[in-house]
Amino acid sequence: MMPFRYEQSPATVVFGVGSLAQVGDEVAGFGAERVMVIFGHSAALPGSTIEAQLGSRLALSWTEVAQHVPVTLADRARTAASECSIDMIVSVGGGSSTGLAKAIALTHRIPIVAVPTTYAGSEQTAIYGVTGGGHKQTGRDPVVLPRVVIYDPALTVGLPLRVTGPSAFNAMAHSVEALYATGCNPITSAIALEGVRAIAGSLPAVMRNSEDLDTRGALLVGAALSGMALGATSAGLHHKICHVLGGRFDLVHADAHSVILPHAVAFNGSVLPVEMAALAVALGAAGGDPASALWDLAVASRVPTRLADLRCPAGPLQRSELADVAEQVAGEITANPRKVTPAAVLGLLERAYDGIRPSIES
Ligand code: NAD
Repeated sequence: MMPFRYEQSPATVVFGVGSLAQVGDEVAGFGAERVMVIFGHSAALPGSTIEAQLGSRLALSWTEVAQHVPVTLADRARTAASECSIDMIVSVGGGSSTGLAKAIALTHRIPIVAVPTTYAGSEQTAIYGVTGGGHKQTGRDPVVLPRVVIYDPALTVGLPLRVTGPSAFNAMAHSVEALYATGCNPITSAIALEGVRAIAGSLPAVMRNSEDLDTRGALLVGAALSGMALGATSAGLHHKICHVLGGRFDLVHADAHSVILPHAVAFNGSVLPVEMAALAVALGAAGGDPASALWDLAVASRVPTRLADLRCPAGPLQRSELADVAEQVAGEITANPRKVTPAAVLGLLERAYDGIRPSIES
């Protein structure tokens, strides 16, 4: 066995139906006096519960968020935080809310309490990202890792199914890439495989009955584990493709994950026999092909499986744009188990564009 180093996340996790009620106590525990609350999805909240809990500590409510954190938005939010002398951020919403909180924490060096309402998993990582000029710049800094994460499954029952399924695939992608990304080790793999198992075991049931708190809770556990797995390792080809697509075309982030993941696994799987066997077991497809199993899960969960179908503000993604995407991905990727060439990425993107059921390349 290879020697390894594993750093456990210092974040506190509070999990349970009704745990939203603990935001005030958690904030008070830090002694924060000037709190900024980012409401990325306040409709998920029962009434004005957070305002009531924070009382006079609430200094600023912010409701504008956007995926991939446009730099202009980050700058405005940072200026507002400075003007209000903010000393803590409470982020409520999906990865877009957490991402904006991280952008502010990065410059202001203040802690975050995160209340996630999707399965993006950003709340468990020290990874931040800001987008400008069609390019998403990411980095890591421990200050952006939320100090407390409050998971309340009740906040997710209203998450529309068209967001739920792809968001769960975003989480699934964190766990899958954690199985082979730089920094992986037996501890991160155990976390990642449990994340895969929890997501694969609950997502179809959530898609059938989106209001069941038990399966919503199981899916949220899977998302938390997957965020932890990503936070303790890194990312590979799959995440790089999604970031390039997101930065260039402003695609719905989670939709890109559900389309690309089976194809990225088909590409990398040929050099990862041990990891792929374990992944197949966690997916409930022991002895089978995990790329195909992920595709089947995507189809069963009614999430996007064709790049040609994805929405971007400028209209449908054109096949003629894929070659430039492939060049950028191959030029920017720093680590992946299999050598990445522009031609290989283009082939992967074309299969994803056409929505072809993948299997591990031989
Ligand atoms: P999002 O936060 O934009 O939310 C998606 C949609 O769901 C939005 O319209 C939002 O209003 C709505 N929504 C959220 N919660 C809801 C609820 N409970 N009920 C009803 N509607 C709700 O998208 P996302 O997929 O959660 O996050 C995507 C962003 O997160 C991207 O920018 C991505 O890069 C980032 N991300 C970062 C990391 C990291 O580690 N840094 C990890 C994963 C994702």
